[in-house]
Amino acid sequence: MRLGVRSRVLLLALLPTTLAALLLGLYQMHTRLQDLEQAHQQRGQAIVNQLALAAEFAVFTQNNLILRQLTRAVLGEADVIDVVIYNALGETVMRGRREADGHLTIDPDLVWPTRTGWIFDASILRTPVEVSGDAFLFSDSEPDDPDDLSQRLIGSVTVELARDPVTHRQRHILLTTLVLLLICLLGAALAGWRLERTITGPIVALGTTVRQLREGDLSARVEERSTTELGALESGINEMAAALQTSRDRLQQQVDEATQELTQTLGQLEQQNTELKLARHHAEQASHSKSEFLATMSHEIRTPLHGVSGFLRLLARTPLSSRQADYVRLLTASADSLMTIINSVLDFIKIEANQLELDVQCGKLSDILECAVYLYGANARDKGLQLELSIDADVPTWVLVDRQRFSQVISNLVSNAVKFTDRGRITVHVNTQTTNTHTVTVQLIVSDTGPGIAPEDLERIFQAFQQLDTSRTRPQAGTGLGLAICRRLVDLLGGKLTVDSEPGQGSRFIVTLPLGIPTEIVTKQPLLTVREPLDKGPLATERVLIVDDNRVNRRLARSILEPLTSSIEDVASGAEALNACQTTRYDLILMDIRMPGLDGIEVTQRLRNTTHGLNHRTPIIGITADLFGEDRDVMLSAGMNDCVYKPLSPESLEAVFRRWIGDSPAP
Ligand code: ADP
Repeated sequence: MRLGVRSRVLLLALLPTTLAALLLGLYQMHTRLQDLEQAHQQRGQAIVNQLALAAEFAVFTQNNLILRQLTRAVLGEADVIDVVIYNALGETVMRGRREADGHLTIDPDLVWPTRTGWIFDASILRTPVEVSGDAFLFSDSEPDDPDDLSQRLIGSVTVELARDPVTHRQRHILLTTLVLLLICLLGAALAGWRLERTITGPIVALGTTVRQLREGDLSARVEERSTTELGALESGINEMAAALQTSRDRLQQQVDEATQELTQTLGQLEQQNTELKLARHHAEQASHSKSEFLATMSHEIRTPLHGVSGFLRLLARTPLSSRQADYVRLLTASADSLMTIINSVLDFIKIEANQLELDVQCGKLSDILECAVYLYGANARDKGLQLELSIDADVPTWVLVDRQRFSQVISNLVSNAVKFTDRGRITVHVNTQTTNTHTVTVQLIVSDTGPGIAPEDLERIFQAFQQLDTSRTRPQAGTGLGLAICRRLVDLLGGKLTVDSEPGQGSRFIVTLPLGIPTEIVTKQPLLTVREPLDKGPLATERVLIVDDNRVNRRLARSILEPLTSSIEDVASGAEALNACQTTRYDLILMDIRMPGLDGIEVTQRLRNTTHGLNHRTPIIGITADLFGEDRDVMLSAGMNDCVYKPLSPESLEAVFRRWIGDSPAP
C-alpha cells in the first residue's frame, strides 16, 4: 500500500504516542486495581483479626452485651455488611447485619443470607493465663505444640465486606484512566494535525504549484509560509517560476517579432509571386509566340525546300549531260543537308521547349534496331566499313518503347559512327542489365574504330552546337546538335547516354534504357491496309485530285504523277477541294495536312462524314512534313488511308499511287 506524505506524517506522529499512552494507561489501571483489591483484602483481614482479639473475653465469658457492642462497632466500618461471631462449637453467638438502606440489625438468630461480598474470618484464641497469687498474668508466649492451638480455640468471627465500594472505585479508576487516555490521544491527534499543517501542508501546496507550472500557468506561485528547508524550497520554486515566466515572455516577444518579420516577408513574397506570375505569363506568351513563329518558319522554309528537293529529283530523271547530272547531285545533297540542319534545329528547340510528348507503344525490339541500323548499311558499305548488329538472347523480344525517339537516337549514333570512321568496323550490341516482371533495362553499345574522342571533349560533345574542331572531323557535315538531341531524348525516355573513348582507337557510345515489358502484345495498327502494288502497265485513266496551298508542291506532285495517269486535277485550298468533290468522283486524293482555312484533316472528315457523297470512300493520302510522326493518329482518326512525307520524291509518290490506284472499292 502506498501512503501519501500526509498519511505518513500522521502515522509517525500518532502511532508511537497512541501506543505509549495505551500501554501506560493499561499498566497504570491494572496496578491501581490490584492495589485497591489488595488494600481491601488487608483491611478486611485487619478488621476480622481485631474483632477476634476483642471478642476473646466476651466469648470466653459469654457476655452477649459486649459481643453485641463489638458487632455494632465493627458494623460501624463503612463497607462491613455482615458480622458473625461463633463459639468453639461453631454456633452463632452474635450476628449483626447492615441492610441495604443502612439500617443495622444485631441478633444472634438472624437468618444467614446469600453472601455477595468478600468473606474474611479469623479464629478466637484464648490467651494463656498464669495465676500468681490473686492476679492473672497473661502470657504472650505461644505454646510450641500446635495442638495447643485447638485447645485454645474458643470461637471464630466472620466479617463480610461489601464489594460495591471497591467496584465503584474500580469503575472510577477505569473511567479516569480512559478519560486520561482519550485526552492523551486527542493531544497526539492535535500534535499530528499541527505537524501535518506545518510539513505536509506546504508540500501539498508545492505540488499544486508545480502542477500548475507544468500545465503552463507560469503565474502560479507558492505561498511562502515556512521558515525551514521547506521555506527554501518554496522560495526556490517561486524564483524558478519567475525565471521561466521571464524567459517565456522573452521568447514570446521574439516569436512575435519573428512572426511580424515573417508576415512582412510573406507579403513581399506574395508581391514577388504576383510579379513572377505576371512575368511567367509574359514569358509563356512569348514562348507561345516563339513556338508559333517556329511552326510558321518551319513550314515557310521547308515548303520551298521540299519543292527544290522534289524538282531536283525529277530533274535527275531527265536526260542530262554528265556535268549537269553532277550539278544536280551536288544541289540535291546541299538541299538534303539544309533540310537536315533545319530539322535538327527545330527538333532541338522543340525538346528545349518541352513540347515533345512520348508515344510509348508495344514493339519488336529487333525490328526497331534493324530498321535504324541498316538504314546506314549502304553508307557503311560505300566507305568499306563492316556494320554489325548483335542482340543477346536474354533481351526480350517485345518491349514498350517510343519507337520514333528510340530509332532517332540509334540512327544518330550509328550515323555518327559511320560518318567519323574511315576504316574498320562498327558494331551495335544490345544486352540486358536488369530484368523484373514489368521492366527490363537494356544496354545498347555503338562501338566504332574511328578517331576516338579526347578525354577533355567527352562531355563537350553532348552540348548543343559543339563540334570537335579537328582537321579530321572538320570536313564532316553537321550542326553539332545530334548528340545534344540524343542525350535529351534518352533523358526523356528515362535512360542515360554516356561515352568512353580512346583517341586513335575508337569510341563507345552507351545507352542504358529502362523499357516496359508488355503484359500482352498489342501492336498499333498500321495507318493503312497495305494493298498489293499494281503491275507497272499502260498509263491509267483514274482521276487524281491534288490538294495543296503551295503552287510548287502542286506542280511537283503533278509532274511526278503525270507519267502514271492521264487525269490529274489540282486545287489550292480545302474549300476548293470540297467543291470539286461534290461534282467529281476521284480515284485518289492527295491532301496536304496543313493549309490555311480548311486544312486537310477537316476536309477529310467532311468527306468521310458525307455518307452519300461521291468521294465518301475514295482513298485519301495525307502529305505531311511531320518528322516525329505526331500527325499519324490525327490522320488515322480523320479517315485518311496513307501518307507521304515531304519532300515528295518520285519514288514515294509512285509507290503510293501504285498501292492505291485502280484498287479502290466502288462507292
Ligand atoms: P554533328 O555530328 O552534327 O557534328 P554531334 O552532336 O552528333 O554533331 O557530334 C558532335 C561532335 O562529336 C562531332 O562533331 C564529332 O566531333 C564528335 N563525335 C560524335 N560521334 C563521334 C564518333 N563516333 N567518333 C568520333 N567523334 C565523334
